[in-house]
Amino acid sequence: MTDIDLDYLREELLQCRRCGICRNAVYEDKGFDGICPVWKNSSGFETSFMRGKIQVALALLDGELEKTPENAESLFQCTLCGNCTQICAAEFNPAESLEQVRQVLSDIPNVVRDNLVEKIIKYDNPYSEDNTEKRKWIEGLGYSVPTKGNTLYYVGCTAGMRLPDAAVYTSEILKSAGIDFAVLDNEPCCGSVMIRTGKIEDAKTNAEKVEEIIRNSGAERVIVSCAGCLKTLRKDYPEKFGVKLPKTLHILEYAEELIKEGKLRPKKIEEVQVTYHDPCHMGRELGVYESPREVLKAIPGVKFVEMDTIRETAICCGAGGGLRSYDPDLSKNIGASRISEAEETGATIIATACPFCENNLLSGKKLTNSRMEVMDVVELLAKSIR
Ligand code: SF4
Ligand code: SF4
Repeated sequence: MTDIDLDYLREELLQCRRCGICRNAVYEDKGFDGICPVWKNSSGFETSFMRGKIQVALALLDGELEKTPENAESLFQCTLCGNCTQICAAEFNPAESLEQVRQVLSDIPNVVRDNLVEKIIKYDNPYSEDNTEKRKWIEGLGYSVPTKGNTLYYVGCTAGMRLPDAAVYTSEILKSAGIDFAVLDNEPCCGSVMIRTGKIEDAKTNAEKVEEIIRNSGAERVIVSCAGCLKTLRKDYPEKFGVKLPKTLHILEYAEELIKEGKLRPKKIEEVQVTYHDPCHMGRELGVYESPREVLKAIPGVKFVEMDTIRETAICCGAGGGLRSYDPDLSKNIGASRISEAEETGATIIATACPFCENNLLSGKKLTNSRMEVMDVVELLAKSIR
């Protein structure tokens, strides 16, 4: 539900022991140090990692700090990746608490967040574009896609408007397995960024709108290709708003099933060495670690290698929690460090399962002039079933 008990939230924040492990914990068994991508890629000041953010949050909540945009700035310099939660030994979830703090302090003006939310309300996407563009990629498929049906492909704003290839490859996978699918006529944004940045009432209204549109489409199953959409529709909607959608699956969860059932039979592709980036929303948040790996391993020709930080300790791509809009340079620098980490594996491809991650990793690649190819797992799978 959307109401937050302030006393409870304060108690949660006070669980912080100020140990500082969330800054530069050393995972000796994994051979790396520094778990907070923001701390690693910024000033290194106390407020750049969770321990300092919690002290700022408490000071703002207790009125010891004036509620100004400047004083609240560090609360938004965080991807909410949850890596600190993963290692924190105290009895609370720091990343989730920070998300709630943003909600409780949402009356503090934040021009970037407010603009972003306004755009979503006005255009149904954060890119201020005509929302019908989200179906434009369908024109190149060579067949028509209905707006209603049993299986609904919920495209998402980034695939629909920035990386339409992800949508095309997803369609190719569904079609190849003999699954007819629909795409909404005017698909609203899932509202993930509204939730992450504290605009919870707007997110609730948006979730109810999405629920109604999906219900009217007659869908009994929803397929997404974006990790952010997945977490928002599958976890946030029921837990925060009591909104229940039909069974919602990531295309790679579905593809793993289809491969096991023999409905998708990947053929040999040109040999490539591939590493995988776990999107925080899909991995740490939902525990979906295996499906993308199983799909990659099922493609003959793919030599799969892992980075040092993977699964529950994977370092974030830098895009989440609204950071890509709030501090694009910091966000891209984090993407660049992830690219460097991927390069250390010797892989020539870093594949992920989220267009939003892919987009930021592409920015990171540009910054580092890396030759690493950034792509979605769906691309490799689609090419292997042609
Ligand atoms: S958030 Fe957790 S890990 Fe970080 S300083 Fe507090 S208790 Fe330690
Ligand atoms: S959620 Fe991620 S980015 Fe934010 S403080 Fe924790 S480790 Fe750093």
